[in-house]
Amino acid sequence: MENSHRIKNLPPYLFAEIDKMINKAKAEGMDVINFGIGDPDQPTYENIVNKMKEAVQDPTTHSYPSYEGLIELRTAVSRKYNERFNVELDPETEVVSLIGSKEGIAHLPFCYINPGDYGLVPDPGYPVYKTSILLADGNPIIMPLKKKNKFLPDLDAVSKEDAQKSKIMFLNYPNNPTGATASLNFFEKVIEFAKKYNIIVAHDAAYTEIYLDEEKPHSILEVKGAIDTAIEFNSLSKPYNMTGWRIGWACGNKDVIESLGRLKTNIDSGIFEAVQYAGIEALYNSNQDIERIRKLYKKRRDLLVDGLSNLGWSIKPNKAAFYLWIDVPEDLPSSEYSKKLFKKTGVFFTPGIGWGEYGKNYLRIALTVNTDRIKEALKRIEESNFVYK
Ligand SMILES: *Cc1c(COP(=O)(O)O)cnc(C)c1O
Repeated sequence: MENSHRIKNLPPYLFAEIDKMINKAKAEGMDVINFGIGDPDQPTYENIVNKMKEAVQDPTTHSYPSYEGLIELRTAVSRKYNERFNVELDPETEVVSLIGSKEGIAHLPFCYINPGDYGLVPDPGYPVYKTSILLADGNPIIMPLKKKNKFLPDLDAVSKEDAQKSKIMFLNYPNNPTGATASLNFFEKVIEFAKKYNIIVAHDAAYTEIYLDEEKPHSILEVKGAIDTAIEFNSLSKPYNMTGWRIGWACGNKDVIESLGRLKTNIDSGIFEAVQYAGIEALYNSNQDIERIRKLYKKRRDLLVDGLSNLGWSIKPNKAAFYLWIDVPEDLPSSEYSKKLFKKTGVFFTPGIGWGEYGKNYLRIALTVNTDRIKEALKRIEESNFVYK
């Protein structure tokens, strides 16, 4: 059976080999400490689980939900954006629910990309941006994220020709995998650029609530006039430890929201209503729990940064998201580096190539491992005499 060119063009799953290596080592009895998991290790907050139990017992939640999401959920999103970012959103027209933000990201290009059209994507970046453009028969144009630019794309380096032919631009701050954040000033430049070239900005804001220092990350919709050309993807997955529940949203420009919603009415039938009620509970009543989770990630970050620095690693703390992104200071690609470290210690740091070509000299360390295991990992790295340089 011959696959469509869409399937054939999908890049290979780079982590397949890694999974195999980790599973094999585990089967051989190695006590693996895996810093590769970009999924919170803590449970969903109790009030949310309780709301789910209640909602699932109510038979009115058992039917097909509304396509665009319960108005109560979209209102909760609108209030959250108002309270947190001082952004006004009309819950009727400027918010649409998603079966996780990944679903909306993957579908957006189908609304704007005709075969042969172009879209701008960051590299390193969440792989879905690039593959979603490929699936719509479009061409991704890479915007490198470099350390010297604080892992922000250099808009001046995008050629006029590339800018003119691009229909959409994906961005993601706080960033996975680099942990970088964006200033409001940067977002202003993005909006100015997008308006000049008539580009839709699709900002993935999945980590805005995971900030580890005083500074709170921004929504791109805080920029005056951003809503003329931008939407933002957001999600309950990371702040509420709800990755398995599949609930998120897109908000912003109402024409884009309408198009995405219209596409989705032809593909899915919305989020289970009980999950939506749990989501509403999350949005209104979890501030203390999120604060606790931020402290937890911060503690882990500080432990790792101090510990690895003491062993001679050159490592900068991330301000937000739950990832440390460190460059490997030798010619060895980070994939080889990661393998060497793993074989010696059972500690796994993910090679950055998984997020694109420009990640190849970096390792990503996810802060989803508890402090006891972090201490154990540091001890093993120290005892192994694994040389960083
Ligand atoms: C985890 C994550 C998401 C969230 O995806 P959901 O589908 O909402 O669970 C989105 N973007 C990035 C970059 C992520 O790391």
